[in-house]
Amino acid sequence: MEKRDELYRGKAKTVYLTDAEDKLILHFRNDTSAFDGQKIEQLERKGEVNNKFNHFIMSKLESAGIKTQVEERLSDTESLVKKLDMIPVECVVRNVAAGSLVKRLGVEEAKELTPPVFEFFLKNDALHDPMVNDYHIISFGWATEEQISKMKELTFKVNSVLKTLFAEAGMTLVDYKLEFGIDKQGDIVLGDEFTPDGCRLWDTETKKKMDKDRFRQGLGNVVETYIEVAKRLGVEL
Ligand code: ADP
Ligand code: UDP
Repeated sequence: MEKRDELYRGKAKTVYLTDAEDKLILHFRNDTSAFDGQKIEQLERKGEVNNKFNHFIMSKLESAGIKTQVEERLSDTESLVKKLDMIPVECVVRNVAAGSLVKRLGVEEAKELTPPVFEFFLKNDALHDPMVNDYHIISFGWATEEQISKMKELTFKVNSVLKTLFAEAGMTLVDYKLEFGIDKQGDIVLGDEFTPDGCRLWDTETKKKMDKDRFRQGLGNVVETYIEVAKRLGVEL
């Protein structure tokens, strides 16, 4: 597989074209950002840990029957993925109240949410990723009604697989963000990443934060904690 021109440089990953028109290379960098890119730092080994973590989780999801972008891990920091036409919304599921939900609704942090809450956010840093609903998505042509229901179905399926996976390793999956795209067959496919950068994980016993909140809140030991999460799951680093 030959790496070609850079297609896009995001806040944490760089996307490259390849000699296959339907495949891309994702390069996971050490850059770590929060607050819509206002806080940025380089954290040693984070790219490697997230690349390996993401490949492990996407492979688990694929085995559970969820169509993902995953092709193969090429190196410590790069993976080959299916090129998707990304839908510009973020799908968030919350099992426990935290983050923006707590601020927005003034609800108690750590309250268990039954049933889990589903939210859509528009991917737009300049507008601070505003919350949108199904009607906005359909009216503005970001996705069809059918694609919306597929994204919800898959996001909840991911929840049932990953809640159990993390619970068995002593962690609570508090919330997470997924991004989907459309592949060349026209199917909805899970893209982007699933890493501690895009979810909240708490140690079930001690409630220790094991995700990007360590970076957002300046708690320290960010990559060390991501490594601990990976080790508990049996990810080879
Ligand atoms: P951001 O754009 O939020 O700064 P990243 O640094 O993670 O985020 O950049 C990765 C970009 O690549 C994102 O815009 C994401 O939507 C896009 N992307 C992720 N996976 C795929 C894929 N399989 N096909 C096409 N684009 C993808
Ligand atoms: N999230 C993300 N990228 C975003 C926004 C949110 O990965 O641009 C993740 C975040 O890490 C958390 C979940 O989605 O696991 C819910 O985030 P929330 O709405 O609480 O926003 P936050 O306060 O984390 O910005």
